[in-house]
Amino acid sequence: MSSDIAADLEVPLVAVTLLHRKGYFHQLLDTEGNQSEIPSEWSPETLLEPVAPRVSIQIEDREVWVRAWRYSVDSPSGHSVPVYLLDTNLPDNSPFDQTLTDHLYGGDEHYRLCQEVVLGLGGVAMLWTLGFAGLQTYHMNEGHSALLSLALLEAQAGVRRLAGVTPEDWQEIRRYCVFTTHTPVPEGHDWFPWEMVRRVLGDEKAQVLEIAGCNMNGYFNMTHLGLVASRYINGVSNSHELVARNMFPEYSIRSITNGVHTFTWTPLPFRRLFDQTIPDWRLDPSFLRYTMDMPLSEIQATHSEAKTDLIKVVEQRSGVKLDPGTMTIGFARRATGYKRADLIFTDVDRLIALTKRTGGIQLIFAGKAHPSDESGKIIIRNIIQRTQDIEPAIRVVYLEDYDMDLARYICGGVDLWLNTPQKPSEASGTSGMKAALNGVPSLSVLDGWWLEGHVEGITGWSIGERGQPNLDSLDEANSLYNKLEYVILPMFYHQPDRYAEVMRYAIALNGWFFITQRMLSQYLRAAYSRGNGV
Ligand SMILES: *Cc1c(COP(=O)(O)O)cnc(C)c1O
Repeated sequence: MSSDIAADLEVPLVAVTLLHRKGYFHQLLDTEGNQSEIPSEWSPETLLEPVAPRVSIQIEDREVWVRAWRYSVDSPSGHSVPVYLLDTNLPDNSPFDQTLTDHLYGGDEHYRLCQEVVLGLGGVAMLWTLGFAGLQTYHMNEGHSALLSLALLEAQAGVRRLAGVTPEDWQEIRRYCVFTTHTPVPEGHDWFPWEMVRRVLGDEKAQVLEIAGCNMNGYFNMTHLGLVASRYINGVSNSHELVARNMFPEYSIRSITNGVHTFTWTPLPFRRLFDQTIPDWRLDPSFLRYTMDMPLSEIQATHSEAKTDLIKVVEQRSGVKLDPGTMTIGFARRATGYKRADLIFTDVDRLIALTKRTGGIQLIFAGKAHPSDESGKIIIRNIIQRTQDIEPAIRVVYLEDYDMDLARYICGGVDLWLNTPQKPSEASGTSGMKAALNGVPSLSVLDGWWLEGHVEGITGWSIGERGQPNLDSLDEANSLYNKLEYVILPMFYHQPDRYAEVMRYAIALNGWFFITQRMLSQYLRAAYSRGNGV
C-alpha cells in the first residue's frame, strides 16, 4: 500500500478512490471446486469519517452528486495521509446513480464508464472543493482515473471552455500528470464504444477526446487517454517496461518496480527477530540487508514458528492437518488463466514419483476468481478435482476466501513460494516479495519482478533458464519437476543449512529491496519531481 509508506516517509500525498460499499466478495468452494460468491458488505460509518462537501458532475443528462469519506493512514511518527473514498449513495441521485460506487470491478461497460466519470471528474472536483488546489502531480494508476485530465483541461482553458481547448492546453496539463500502466493483459485495459462515451460524457467532452485521437476505430481506450495526458509514464518492473513499450510504441516509457509494505508483510515471527537483532529496520527497512550474517539457526527457528502458525490456520480453516517436517509449497494469488496455478499438475504421475524418490511435498493453494472470469474458475475446479488423484501421496489444500490476513500466513509460513505465470503476462507480481521478507525463497518462471530478484541457487530458483528461449508450458512443467527433484528437495532434506542460506539471502538480497519504501522514493525522484518529461 503506497499510502502506508507515504505516511511513513512523510510524503505530502492525498489519495482518491471509490467507496465500494458492497466490497468484493467472499468465496465459497464446493467439493467439486465450484466457486460461489457471497457479497461482503461493510459499513463505512464504522471505519471512515464523513466530510461535509458535496460536488456534482454531469453524467448523460443528469447531475450526479458525490460525497466523500475520509480514511487516515497514520505512520508511527505521526504523519498522516488522507484517503478520500467517493460515494454517490445520496438521496438526490437516481436509484441507478446511487449504486455507482458500490461495486469493485462490477457491472457492465456502461456502469464501469459511469464509475470512471465519478472517479476522474468527481475526484478532482472533490479535491479542489476540499482545498487541495495546489497539487503538483496527479498520479493515475491505470486508466480508471484518466478522465481527470478533462477536469484539468477545463480549468486550464478557463473562459475558452472545453470547446476552445488548444494543443498548448494539453501541453500544460501534461506537466501535472503521471501515468502508471499495471498490466500487459488486455482485459486490464478499459475500452468503451464511442457512442456510449458520447452519451455519457456529452458532445463537448467527447469532441475534446476525439481531437486528441482517443476515438480508435469507434472505441475509446482509457489507457490511451492516460498516456496522451502524461509527462511521465511507467511500467511496474524492468521487463514490463519493455512489454509496455511494445504495446505503446509512440510513448517514452520507464519503469519503477513494485514493492510491498515491509511492516504489513512481516508477520510476528520475523518481526520479533528483526526487532531483537536490527531494531532500526522499522524506520528504515534497508537495514534488513544486515541479516546477511545472521546465524542460520535463528532464521530456521523463526521460520519454523511461522510454519507452525500457518499449519494451525490451515487446520482451523480446512480441518486438514499438515506435517511440519514436510516441504510445504505455497501458491496463492488471483485465480486467472495466465497465472496457471495448475501448471504443477501437468504430469501428476511424475510429480508423485519424484516425491517418492526424493522427499515428500505438501501444497497449499488459495485465490479467488473474478465472478466473470471463467478461466480462473476452471483452474480452481481443476486443482480441487485433481487433488483426488494426488492424495494421499501428496497433501493438497485449497483454502477458501483468500485475503490479506491469509496471505500473511501463507507467504510467511511455507518453505517455497511457487509462481508459474505465462510469460510475459506478469507485469510485476508481489507475493514473492512478501515471501522473501520472511525468508521464503521462490521457484518461479522468469517474468516480472523475478527477473530482477532471481539469483539461481542463492535467492531461489527459476523455471526455465535465464537467457534461454521461452519454453512451452509442457517444458516449463518439466523444468519445474527437474528443479524440485534434483535441486530443491535434495537440498531441503539433506542440506538444511544450505537451504537456510538461501532463505537468508532471500531476506538480505531481496527482502529489503522489493518494498514500497524503495519504490516510493523512486516515484518521488523519477515521476513526481517536476522537470521530468515535458
Ligand atoms: C499479494 C496479494 C495478491 C497479489 O499477488 P501476486 O503475486 O502479485 O499476484 C493477491 N491477493 C492477495 C490477498 C494478496 O495479499
